[in-house]
Amino acid sequence: MVTKAYLPPMEEYVEKINEIWKTNCLTNMGPLHQRFEKELTNMLGVQYCLAFSNGHQALELLIQSMLQNKIIKVGCEVITTPFTFASTTHAIVRNGLVPVFADIKEDDYTLDPKSVEQCITDKTGLILPVHVYGYPCDTEAFQEISARYQIPVIYDGAHAFGVRYKNNDIGNYGFASIFSFHATKPFNSIEGGAIVFSDPQIGFRAYQMKNFGILDSDLVVAPGTNAKLSEFHAAMGLCNLDHWDEIKRGRKQVIERYRHRLEGVEGISFHVPNGDVEENYAYFPIVINEKVFGVNRDVVSQVLQDKNVFVRKYFYPLTCDFQCYRKQDYKKDIERAKYVSNRIVTLPVYADLSQKEIDFICDVIIACKRQALREVVL
Ligand SMILES: *Cc1c(COP(=O)(O)O)cnc(C)c1O
Repeated sequence: MVTKAYLPPMEEYVEKINEIWKTNCLTNMGPLHQRFEKELTNMLGVQYCLAFSNGHQALELLIQSMLQNKIIKVGCEVITTPFTFASTTHAIVRNGLVPVFADIKEDDYTLDPKSVEQCITDKTGLILPVHVYGYPCDTEAFQEISARYQIPVIYDGAHAFGVRYKNNDIGNYGFASIFSFHATKPFNSIEGGAIVFSDPQIGFRAYQMKNFGILDSDLVVAPGTNAKLSEFHAAMGLCNLDHWDEIKRGRKQVIERYRHRLEGVEGISFHVPNGDVEENYAYFPIVINEKVFGVNRDVVSQVLQDKNVFVRKYFYPLTCDFQCYRKQDYKKDIERAKYVSNRIVTLPVYADLSQKEIDFICDVIIACKRQALREVVL
């Protein structure tokens, strides 16, 4: 499988949830929830960190809080990437805002600041890049654009928990960021997510919004929703935080083996972040150029699947090509995003994937190329 959820030793989880039977507090920002937020804040070195039921709610409510605090205008355009998970685009549209799809960079697949700048109009209210696969966006360029045009930048960091850039957690860049702690992400609380930010007003509003806008029993200040993280989820998050270094180490070994085996294979390219980046080893995507490699991504995926290796065409289709969006006349500049999306495949990564299994996967991929070459020669 492309991923396998990390589970801590069961005894550790049982010990953590023991407390719940003592306090009888199951949810509503109980003691485990509070401890989880505190440990995250310390670990990430951010000013504030609020936990949510999942990453999507964190993103949707972050945008909604910015609307309610009039930091962005009702119905404004949001410049974003189409090369992402559905959640990013949905969070924009579900807030009544209009996505504008800028192009990505071909080397690391993140949103291209140059394309973003070309998309800016007087309707632009927000820029929403994604640290896709945990590869940091060009935060300096976005900072500069944000200051020059007075447009806030928030990051979808769903893939980027624990990533550091220039000795600073990636959550410290931009106006605010979100993380996802979904079971399939490298760090999980089963379901869960967080907003990290430095503007207390935004955080205050988002905090209200996740509990129906209720401040106390007779004071309701906003049309909120329910996006609270339960004590059981917080307990899992706390357990997994204790294992984060070990999780990362395991994934690092897997990805380094892939890089070693696939480096120099003509027709296959992949991104290796530079020395300013401390990676979280979230994913291992490769781009297959069929003209050089001999066969295309779909053939390689199928051959792997026939051998019981389940890879993902992550991210294909582009979100702007989803059935629910393709008929809208959203503005777009997506040539490179299309190129990458049609050629990318994400290989299995989880801590206990053995070297033998990785080598098998690489052997199958390389054999696809040999087979293709043979067919050309014949
Ligand atoms: C997973 C993901 C989300 C949503 O997170 P959930 O915790 O699953 O709600 C948002 N954006 C991206 C890019 C993701 O991959």
